[in-house]
Amino acid sequence: MSGVVTNVVDGDTFDLRIEKTDPRILYEIERVRLADVDSPEMSTPEGPPAKVSSTEALLGKKVWLDIDDKSKDGRDMYERILAVVYLEDLNGTINTTHPFNRLLVDAGHAVVKDFTNNEFDPAAWWEEGIPQPELSPVPDTATTAKGGQFVGSVRSDKYHYPSCKWGKTIASHNEIWFSSSEEARAAGYVPCGACNPP
Ligand SMILES: [Zn+2]
Repeated sequence: MSGVVTNVVDGDTFDLRIEKTDPRILYEIERVRLADVDSPEMSTPEGPPAKVSSTEALLGKKVWLDIDDKSKDGRDMYERILAVVYLEDLNGTINTTHPFNRLLVDAGHAVVKDFTNNEFDPAAWWEEGIPQPELSPVPDTATTAKGGQFVGSVRSDKYHYPSCKWGKTIASHNEIWFSSSEEARAAGYVPCGACNPP
């Protein structure tokens, strides 16, 4: 469904005058929170620039929503509509390949926070996996709880050599390690076509 942005609260939150074409839409104007990304709070130095960026991109514009089907009523704990947001191209077609959630990260005004309890997988927004954020670097978790010959993601069915460039894009909380290719295959995983493990 679509609507027109009437107000931008901060980088990742805005108000939308929205069509009531979905039973989860209760009000003429709903507050929308971008799913799986986090912009800096307005109380931080990076907050206002993020808001300016989102305001320039969104205010007065028509946008399309993919509301999270897993959250209750499609809302987060603050009753905001949780969604992936799509912009229109200049010729009026929806840009479904690069949601605004991704564009905000690309612009450096948000980082990916993959909440796995919603329907979205932000890795799908990038062809080459989630870019490493600059705002809050992924902690360099030691290999204590890990280890093994091959690594996969709980969100896909491929397994990799740990040195594979795709294997390296797997978020540490999504990693699953295998001690052998037999173990990986028994778990339903298939070899990555790039690093081609046995
Ligand atoms: Zn690989």
